[in-house]
Amino acid sequence: VTRFAFEPAPLDRGANIRAKPEEVAKYRASPHVGFVRLAGDQVAFAGGQLTTTAPDAATPCIFLGTDATGKPWFAAEASASDSLVPLRTLMVDGLLPPDALSIVAQGRSLVHWHESHRFCARCGAESLMQDAGYRRHCPQCSADHFPRTDPVVIMAVIKDNRTLLGRQKSWPANMYSTLAGFMEPGETIETAVRREVFEEVGLRLARIDYVASQPWPFPASLMIGMIGVAEDETLTIDHNEIETARWFDAGEVQMMLDRTHPEGLTASRPDAIAWHLTKEALQRIRG
Ligand SMILES: [Zn+2]
Repeated sequence: VTRFAFEPAPLDRGANIRAKPEEVAKYRASPHVGFVRLAGDQVAFAGGQLTTTAPDAATPCIFLGTDATGKPWFAAEASASDSLVPLRTLMVDGLLPPDALSIVAQGRSLVHWHESHRFCARCGAESLMQDAGYRRHCPQCSADHFPRTDPVVIMAVIKDNRTLLGRQKSWPANMYSTLAGFMEPGETIETAVRREVFEEVGLRLARIDYVASQPWPFPASLMIGMIGVAEDETLTIDHNEIETARWFDAGEVQMMLDRTHPEGLTASRPDAIAWHLTKEALQRIRG
């Protein structure tokens, strides 16, 4: 059962064949091959479906894997004539089935990495795509560079029969959701959760539980969904980090998830893991 966007893993990524160019070439030449065509966060999309036409032979392609029917999928830059739709719109408007959305997300994160890592971070020479798109090699200094994933901790905080939710200035008016922040080098997931919650709202956490994770291709994050139990309820909000935060009881949280709150307050969109963390928090505060 799909619970949130980008969660399905529809492809066998075939990691063991990436370093075998002749096998990858066979897939690329397959009559059933599909290409996800991208330009930044824009996706080639027309007539209600992905534009999956093959690029010319000189265009570098990233091998994404094979789907349940054996169809190979690649990602490549869009052509100048492609009509483009932002990936976020494809998600929010539900324009793609969940499996296709996940394939596009994988392609988008990888294409973005290649676009922004063309030159060797060590010596500045132009590097070359290798391993069907999962490595870049520098011919000058021999350094290898690998695609990055940026881990983000995202957490619901509960205490007795209430849940803490906050909001960012940039969010839609009246939307309250879970706290979140990028992990820092040297941190465990638990350390990052404790640090972010203390920085944003001044709460210390007792128990912390892992709930689920979500790839978030804007451009290449991994949302690590957690629930923490606060030691007390006194908030010290850092307004540089968030606009505000407050405690909500179970009745309010239910209405925010259902979008029936009398003041128009809402939880996040159901695409986002934040919605599911809020729901999980609701179950726990109800006991
Ligand atoms: Zn180099």
